[in-house]
Amino acid sequence: MAEEFKVTPWEVTGDIDYDRLQQQFGTTPVDDALIARLAKYGDVHPMVRRGIFYSHRDMVPLLDQYDKGNRFVLYTGRGPSGNTHLGHMMPWIFNKWVQDTFGVEMLFQMTDDEKFLFKEKLDLEDTSSMAYENALDFIALGFDPKKTRIILNTKNIDKLYPIALRISKRVTFSTARAVFGFDDSTHIGQIFYTTLQSVPAFLPSVEAGRQVPVLIPCGIDQDPHFRVTRDVAPGMGFPKPSLFYCKMFPGLSGADKMSSSDENATIYTTDTPKAVKKKVGRAFTGGCVSVEEQRQKGGNPEVCAVFKYNYYLFESDDAKLNELAEKCRKGEILCGECKMCLTEKINVFLEEHQDKREKAKDVVGSMTYDGFEW
Ligand code: SF4
Repeated sequence: MAEEFKVTPWEVTGDIDYDRLQQQFGTTPVDDALIARLAKYGDVHPMVRRGIFYSHRDMVPLLDQYDKGNRFVLYTGRGPSGNTHLGHMMPWIFNKWVQDTFGVEMLFQMTDDEKFLFKEKLDLEDTSSMAYENALDFIALGFDPKKTRIILNTKNIDKLYPIALRISKRVTFSTARAVFGFDDSTHIGQIFYTTLQSVPAFLPSVEAGRQVPVLIPCGIDQDPHFRVTRDVAPGMGFPKPSLFYCKMFPGLSGADKMSSSDENATIYTTDTPKAVKKKVGRAFTGGCVSVEEQRQKGGNPEVCAVFKYNYYLFESDDAKLNELAEKCRKGEILCGECKMCLTEKINVFLEEHQDKREKAKDVVGSMTYDGFEW
């Protein structure tokens, strides 16, 4: 039987049943009608076609507003607690597609305060310097520097705090406890924090002096925060933000979520080609014990981490992906060869990314919200 799962903004464990999670959270499945609607604006991203971005809140009214000329602002973020890995990059890659497709502005919030409050061992100095490193990865993906601003909570607090205060007056402890599972031992910093994560959903409206729609593409684990955001929005005179949720990027060990706590099963953006080769070499696969058996019975791509990496990020061509699955099932390809191909794809991607990451150091200073200095 599948292990019981847990999904909160701070903890993801077990075998996630994404349909059940969607029901629990009350979000809406991405259906064919929404995919057809998205196709009107450009080629639909493989992450949508393949059901990786699989659930949403209010995408249709957002697109209706867009069609009427009321452009939305994109908002996503990162809790800087360590080096960037591929799991963090996946939703950012999708955000980049949204920015390019709709030509919209973007706010990227780095929640250094959150990680300080929720990670026992981290100091504010740690989370702030991690934010800088993570921002380089984000910029390296090619977001438009003229349309993208990076918020660092502790640096931009003067602009964030007045809005956070107004939010905090509308969220009771009873709500925070019910939504996040807090108890009497939770310290008050953690209870207040969610207000800061809501702020960028309202900031574009405050800046423009009118109702500006906001779209937040992110992992579905963040839904508890944005339920609170959406609850308080109408009372504060702001539109409810729309959400586009993705599944978690899998770990190489076969776990449902890539996690920094399992370093050997996690590919970081700064990994060397040798490190990637070693990690992919140890990946969990759907292969058989012996070569003979695999040639005879075939493998199982459904459970294979190597296949999932191709599915999520490294093979955007559907025909080639289907061919790989077929060859695997028929025993026409073996895991060693398959791992070598994936290693090559990841290393090509990382080589280019690391180069762009270096160049990002020249522009990171010009992309900060309100011109703060790193
Ligand atoms: Fe996975 Fe490739 Fe092995 Fe099939 S052949 S189980 S896809 S590694």
